[in-house]
Amino acid sequence: MNDSTTKNAHLAEVFSSVQGEGPYVGVRQIFLRFHGCHRRCEFCDSPETVTAWQPAGFKPASFRIETPAGSNHFETHANPVAADELAALIGRLDAPRGLHHSVALTGGEPLMHAAFLGELLPRIEHFGLRTYLETAGDLYRMIEPLLPWLDIAAMDIKLPSVTKDDPAWENHRHFLQRCVENEVEVFAKVIVSGETSDDDIREAARVIADIAPQTLLVLQPMSIHGNAKHPATPAQLLVWQKLALETVPHVRVIPQCHKLTGHL
Ligand code: SF4
Repeated sequence: MNDSTTKNAHLAEVFSSVQGEGPYVGVRQIFLRFHGCHRRCEFCDSPETVTAWQPAGFKPASFRIETPAGSNHFETHANPVAADELAALIGRLDAPRGLHHSVALTGGEPLMHAAFLGELLPRIEHFGLRTYLETAGDLYRMIEPLLPWLDIAAMDIKLPSVTKDDPAWENHRHFLQRCVENEVEVFAKVIVSGETSDDDIREAARVIADIAPQTLLVLQPMSIHGNAKHPATPAQLLVWQKLALETVPHVRVIPQCHKLTGHL
């Protein structure tokens, strides 16, 4: 059965750390890293969660969960996990109360577990924690039932010149539209490398300009502290920021900060 329709989920890990990307950089979050992703970005830093790169039908038998928050000490927990069970683990990790700004749903692609999230997100709200979705930003049908429970969406706009994967421009438009119409706070992020094409930057800016021009566009350089083969140069980043600013008013260059500090 497809994970998007089942009420149990396969996770890779659960831990407490600081957000390392985008405008929320530095806030403390509980991260839920889900297994499974429908895309194949060449730069992916979680390849173990990408469905196409694992043996057919593979799902991890267990996930690791940090205990207590910030200790870098992990326990093993069996997969799949039910929403009630994971909510109890989140409640235990969220100590002391007030430490965490939000729960980050990451992966892999969390929306591949949409039915499960439909059960989990109301329980997270019950703890008084915000929900922060990190997503490829193209599965707009999957996000639909979750919109009432989402506070923040960090949506990627995938640049084919960088991912070496199929474009998803129209799906990104629908995704952004549904977030805006449902008053989910949303920003868009594009990963850029030295191979980024000017046309891709223009098209990403047009997606935003056509749907919600005030949306922040983050240019995130493929991290030189990661496995980037062709990192963008400082000069290229300035050129692409200028290019995007010709179409939309809010464009920032923000690198992955958690890799500088050595956080998970
Ligand atoms: S969408 Fe994210 S998890 Fe999926 S392949 Fe791309 S970078 Fe990796």
